Amino acid sequence: MTQYEPVIGLEIHAELMTNSKMFCSCKVVDSVTAPPNTAVCPVCLGMPGMLPVINRKAVEYALRVALALNCQIQAHNIFARKNYFYPDLPKAYQISQYELPLGVNGWLDVELEDGTSKRIGIRRVHMEEDTGKLTHLEGGGSLVDYNRSGVPLLEIVSEPDIRSGEEARAYAMKIRQILRYLGVNAGDLEKGVFRVEPNISIRPMGSTEFGTRTELKNLNSFKSLADGTAFELARQAEVLDGGGQVVQETRGWHDTKRITFSQRVKEEAEDYRYFPEPDLPPLHISDAWVAQVRASLPELPDAKVARYQTDYGLSEYDARVLTEEQAVANWFEAVPPTAPPKTIANWIINDLFRLMNEHKQAIDDIQVTPVMLGELLELVQKQTINNSTAVDVLNEMFVSGQMAKTIVEAKGLAQISDESALAGLIEQVLDENPDSVAQYLAGKDKLRGWFVGQVMKASRGKANPGLVNKVLVQALEKRR
Ligand code: ADP
Ligand code: MG
Ligand code: ZN
Repeated sequence: MTQYEPVIGLEIHAELMTNSKMFCSCKVVDSVTAPPNTAVCPVCLGMPGMLPVINRKAVEYALRVALALNCQIQAHNIFARKNYFYPDLPKAYQISQYELPLGVNGWLDVELEDGTSKRIGIRRVHMEEDTGKLTHLEGGGSLVDYNRSGVPLLEIVSEPDIRSGEEARAYAMKIRQILRYLGVNAGDLEKGVFRVEPNISIRPMGSTEFGTRTELKNLNSFKSLADGTAFELARQAEVLDGGGQVVQETRGWHDTKRITFSQRVKEEAEDYRYFPEPDLPPLHISDAWVAQVRASLPELPDAKVARYQTDYGLSEYDARVLTEEQAVANWFEAVPPTAPPKTIANWIINDLFRLMNEHKQAIDDIQVTPVMLGELLELVQKQTINNSTAVDVLNEMFVSGQMAKTIVEAKGLAQISDESALAGLIEQVLDENPDSVAQYLAGKDKLRGWFVGQVMKASRGKANPGLVNKVLVQALEKRR
């Protein structure tokens, strides 16, 4: 079998979460839950004679994305008509951008599983409108819902810089993360508000020319993106190895059979008969507006990760986990500094995430607040409770929403830090285990840990472990 190098470029379509549609004042509604054809008007239904008007907010959102992806912003923008016939497109053309897109020549750094990062070029970011939604009935016939028709849509096209399914997945996930940070898209693949379409080809190792590509559609999860890409790479290798040629076409991903199948032979750009949209004037984007939008961008994931490492001394790994979602990062930053940042990070990553998983709650849903975690950790810092008690207390806080102090008092969980009280417990444990005491005194040092465990157990977890260690050694020595 010949060795091939994968060449992949991604087209990502993301709906913009504006209140109204791209070229009319219809509301943008949830395409899954809203009753069909209730958010429509003559403009988005493509009635003859209706004129589109650009949604300024949609352009601002698009600008945010283009800037966050390091694109050059084109001051002079024009819209184009992309013509094709399909029932989900009532005008029989989609208003899009073709020759002069909003953003060009961007890039994004993507972290890979082996710890390295890779820069992927971004060819263009352009604005367009979404189509309606078709539902094909089992007995034949189709239903069409135009609620989605005219929803602002952004297309983000990468350079063919991606070399594996893993890179494709990492790139798409990072784009999604950034769009969520920017507050322009919810990133829901299942609902189709974020759609990823890889263009895939292979070429013999060492070759500098690109092979013929196929474009993959119907990927409704990141797993499907990785699996579909892997399948397609293997399929193309098999075709070439068998002496055949890859056909340039659009292929669908079958989510249950987990294979790709030919949907339609790829149309060329000429087939769309693109021409400038005569109903919209050129859109001029001023430098002042660009500067204003740039200044309003939130701190993005990479900047946050760098700051968490320098300001808080966190590892890159912890910083990435905490910044994966902006809401979690905000939560972390709101915890009062009652413990070192690394300690706070560990409690969130290990214990809070465990509880959120168990109870299927997102950070915005939970009763525990950053201030409450801060108070809990203060009790640990002051040695009022030990670490393992604190885990129990957090579990309780998560369910009841009570403050740590309230739970510690009500349940009498305060740590026994009183030497004389501990000495009593220790004597009791030693009296009950004369054989172990004898072995310890004969040189079996390892038993000390076991004794500490017995005392902790006798105290029902409340003993201060450091103090137990100290008093225990003294008590054992006395028996020598
Ligand atoms: P089209 O509309 O013809 O699909 P686009 O510009 O929208 O063109 O998207 C082309 C995408 O395909 C880009 O992401 C680009 O990087 C990628 N691409 C182009 N040529 C190849 C190739 N030979 N193999 C894989 N990907 C490719
Ligand atoms: Mg394409
Ligand atoms: Zn409308």
